Amino acid sequence: MMIQMKKLVFIFCMTITALSYSQTSDSIENIIIITTDGLRWQEVFKGMDTLIASDNRYNQKQEKELFETYWAASAAERREKLLPFIWSVIEAQGQLYGNRDCKSNVNVTNKYWFSYPGYSEMFCGYADKKVNSNAYTFNPNTNLFEFMNTQKGFEGKVAAFGAWEVFDKILNEPRSKIPVVSGGDSCGMPEPDTVESAINKSKKETPNPEALGKEEYGDMFTYQASKHYVEKHKPRVIFIGYGETDVWAHWSQYASYLNAAHQFDQWMNDLWQYIQNDPVYKNKTLLFISTDHGRGYKENEWTNHNRRTKGSNQIWFGVMGPGVTAKGEVKNSKTLYQKQFAETWAEFLNLHFVCDHKVAKGFKPVLTDTSKKK
Ligand SMILES: [Zn+2]
Repeated sequence: MMIQMKKLVFIFCMTITALSYSQTSDSIENIIIITTDGLRWQEVFKGMDTLIASDNRYNQKQEKELFETYWAASAAERREKLLPFIWSVIEAQGQLYGNRDCKSNVNVTNKYWFSYPGYSEMFCGYADKKVNSNAYTFNPNTNLFEFMNTQKGFEGKVAAFGAWEVFDKILNEPRSKIPVVSGGDSCGMPEPDTVESAINKSKKETPNPEALGKEEYGDMFTYQASKHYVEKHKPRVIFIGYGETDVWAHWSQYASYLNAAHQFDQWMNDLWQYIQNDPVYKNKTLLFISTDHGRGYKENEWTNHNRRTKGSNQIWFGVMGPGVTAKGEVKNSKTLYQKQFAETWAEFLNLHFVCDHKVAKGFKPVLTDTSKKK
């Protein structure tokens, strides 16, 4: 009975939110881009994979707990247990692409199918063949964020946060002149406030788990530092890049992989609650979420991603904000590409991303199209 009541109140609140949303004008002033590295579309759209979860190569003896937490009979229920914010709020108010079972394909264009080329394609709007390694040097290609930082009204209002230290190179921090707080970087430099000092201190003093290696730090630090930056500086464009989904998949730890995905969803919810209660952001902000690459299909290939592993080029994205039509899970869509994201973000800010390399066409008109599907 109580649960029924709660459900009703929840549905009522959701309806109110949806109504107030549709009444706002089509005006986006800020963009929040959040990625979680290498999270497969399979888990995003179908939730926990029961074959992988019951395979003792991957469950680290947590099978019972995994099933209790994330299992349900249908894919729709499973995905909502894993990613409740995506499958309540974004599904109700925005759009989700990439469920290949419903003929919605989102692909990377680059031929490498791992992180540096993926993020570079996403941020530069261009798949540069020369960008072919995670150990690649400072990215020679101009990215959207440094372009935005030179546009009127956006100067000093663009920032990037990432768990992986390589974001400094992907976004070419020395050249782009936007703050890129990634890996072991301290936040709030050169004069951190008390909150930033506390984050920096705990990052320094927390031993990095072996799985993360030297280039990657726990997602919690990225979450805390980026949230504080939003509250303190109110950036108009911010990128937040989480990494633990990819780390745990490479270590064949399905439970940790799912928990990292669930945490990414919860942090997104927390940030969105703040956004929709802050006058600078409320009803003026686009949320765009995605990933840099896919992973293998098969039970013994989900841990991996590369050119030879089928499925590694398959990604997904979700989007919501004023002007984005509430379509939920999109079916039978035209194939969309990672290289189109950058110009799409620019389009939402009424800008056109121009630089010294080619930039793929955006697809804002697809997201704002209000006509009914045939
Ligand atoms: Zn990886």
